[in-house]
Amino acid sequence: MCKTKNCIIQRTKDAVGFSRQRMSYNKKSGKYTCAACGNGLFNSKTKYDSDCGWPSFYKSKNNSVLLKKDFSYGINRTEIICKRCGSHLGHIFDDGPKPTGKRFCINSVALKFREDKSDKKQD
Ligand SMILES: [Zn+2]
Repeated sequence: MCKTKNCIIQRTKDAVGFSRQRMSYNKKSGKYTCAACGNGLFNSKTKYDSDCGWPSFYKSKNNSVLLKKDFSYGINRTEIICKRCGSHLGHIFDDGPKPTGKRFCINSVALKFREDKSDKKQD
Protein backbone atom coordinates (compact mmCIF):
# COMPACT_ATOMS: atom_id res chain seq x y z
CA MET A 1 0.00 0.00 0.00
CA CYS A 2 1.35 3.34 -0.95
CA LYS A 3 0.09 6.28 1.03
CA THR A 4 2.65 8.91 0.22
CA LYS A 5 1.52 12.34 -0.87
CA ASN A 6 2.96 11.90 -4.37
CA CYS A 7 1.02 8.73 -4.88
CA ILE A 8 -2.24 10.42 -4.03
CA ILE A 9 -1.49 13.32 -6.36
CA GLN A 10 -0.67 10.89 -9.16
CA ARG A 11 -3.93 9.06 -8.65
CA THR A 12 -5.85 12.33 -8.75
CA LYS A 13 -4.14 13.21 -12.01
CA ASP A 14 -5.11 9.85 -13.46
CA ALA A 15 -8.73 10.44 -12.56
CA VAL A 16 -8.70 13.82 -14.27
CA GLY A 17 -7.03 12.31 -17.34
CA PHE A 18 -9.66 9.64 -17.52
CA SER A 19 -12.64 11.96 -17.41
CA ARG A 20 -10.95 14.19 -19.97
CA GLN A 21 -10.50 11.31 -22.36
CA ARG A 22 -14.02 10.06 -21.85
CA MET A 23 -15.43 13.49 -22.69
CA SER A 24 -13.22 14.04 -25.70
CA TYR A 25 -14.04 10.65 -27.23
CA ASN A 26 -17.71 10.82 -26.41
CA LYS A 27 -19.59 10.12 -29.65
CA LYS A 28 -23.12 10.17 -28.28
CA SER A 29 -25.53 12.77 -29.49
CA GLY A 30 -26.75 15.36 -27.07
CA LYS A 31 -25.77 18.70 -25.73
CA TYR A 32 -22.90 20.04 -23.71
CA THR A 33 -23.75 22.48 -20.98
CA CYS A 34 -21.76 24.66 -18.60
CA ALA A 35 -20.80 22.58 -15.56
CA ALA A 36 -21.29 25.58 -13.31
CA CYS A 37 -24.67 26.97 -14.38
CA GLY A 38 -26.21 24.56 -16.91
CA ASN A 39 -26.17 27.01 -19.80
CA GLY A 40 -26.42 25.13 -23.12
CA LEU A 41 -23.09 25.69 -24.90
CA PHE A 42 -22.49 23.14 -27.64
CA ASN A 43 -24.33 20.52 -29.63
CA SER A 44 -22.69 17.14 -30.23
CA LYS A 45 -23.23 17.72 -33.96
CA THR A 46 -20.58 20.45 -33.88
CA LYS A 47 -18.08 18.31 -31.96
CA TYR A 48 -15.15 16.83 -33.87
CA ASP A 49 -11.93 14.95 -33.28
CA SER A 50 -8.91 17.15 -32.88
CA ASP A 51 -5.47 16.12 -31.76
CA CYS A 52 -5.42 18.28 -28.67
CA GLY A 53 -6.99 15.70 -26.35
CA TRP A 54 -9.73 18.08 -25.24
CA PRO A 55 -13.33 18.15 -26.40
CA SER A 56 -13.32 20.30 -29.54
CA PHE A 57 -16.19 21.98 -31.34
CA TYR A 58 -16.28 24.12 -34.43
CA LYS A 59 -19.31 26.13 -33.37
CA SER A 60 -20.96 27.21 -30.14
CA LYS A 61 -24.66 27.77 -29.66
CA ASN A 62 -25.84 31.26 -30.49
CA ASN A 63 -25.32 33.73 -27.65
CA SER A 64 -23.99 31.09 -25.27
CA VAL A 65 -20.38 32.18 -24.89
CA LEU A 66 -18.26 35.30 -24.74
CA LEU A 67 -14.80 35.59 -26.27
CA LYS A 68 -12.12 37.52 -24.46
CA LYS A 69 -8.50 38.23 -25.32
CA ASP A 70 -6.15 36.36 -23.03
CA PHE A 71 -2.47 37.25 -22.82
CA SER A 72 -1.55 34.97 -19.92
CA TYR A 73 1.72 33.02 -20.15
CA GLY A 74 2.87 35.50 -22.80
CA ILE A 75 0.70 33.81 -25.44
CA ASN A 76 -1.91 35.71 -27.37
CA ARG A 77 -5.03 33.56 -27.17
CA THR A 78 -8.77 34.08 -27.05
CA GLU A 79 -10.52 32.80 -23.98
CA ILE A 80 -14.02 31.28 -24.12
CA ILE A 81 -16.28 32.27 -21.24
CA CYS A 82 -19.79 31.15 -20.36
CA LYS A 83 -22.06 34.08 -21.18
CA ARG A 84 -24.40 33.33 -18.30
CA CYS A 85 -22.06 32.77 -15.36
CA GLY A 86 -18.63 33.92 -16.56
CA SER A 87 -16.92 30.53 -16.07
CA HIS A 88 -13.73 29.93 -18.01
CA LEU A 89 -14.44 27.20 -20.58
CA GLY A 90 -11.36 27.02 -22.78
CA HIS A 91 -9.77 28.75 -25.73
CA ILE A 92 -10.66 29.31 -29.36
CA PHE A 93 -8.20 28.82 -32.22
CA ASP A 94 -8.33 29.43 -35.95
CA ASP A 95 -7.37 25.93 -37.08
CA GLY A 96 -10.80 24.29 -36.95
CA PRO A 97 -12.70 22.52 -39.73
CA LYS A 98 -15.28 23.99 -42.09
CA PRO A 99 -17.68 25.73 -42.07
CA THR A 100 -16.40 28.04 -39.33
CA GLY A 101 -12.66 27.32 -39.38
CA LYS A 102 -12.73 27.71 -35.61
CA ARG A 103 -11.63 25.27 -32.93
CA PHE A 104 -13.38 25.66 -29.61
CA CYS A 105 -10.98 23.79 -27.37
CA ILE A 106 -12.88 23.21 -24.15
CA ASN A 107 -11.70 22.08 -20.76
CA SER A 108 -13.77 18.97 -20.10
CA VAL A 109 -14.19 19.80 -16.39
CA ALA A 110 -16.07 22.93 -17.48
CA LEU A 111 -18.63 20.85 -19.39
CA LYS A 112 -21.48 18.56 -18.57
CA PHE A 113 -22.94 16.24 -21.17
CA ARG A 114 -26.65 15.57 -21.53
CA GLU A 115 -27.45 12.73 -23.83
CA ASP A 116 -30.29 13.31 -26.26
CA LYS A 117 -32.45 10.23 -25.84
CA SER A 118 -34.85 11.08 -28.66
CA ASP A 119 -31.96 11.16 -31.14
CA LYS A 120 -30.84 7.74 -29.98
CA LYS A 121 -34.18 6.15 -30.84
CA GLN A 122 -33.88 7.27 -34.43
CA ASP A 123 -30.60 5.43 -34.92
ZN1 LIG B 1 -22.06 28.97 -16.96
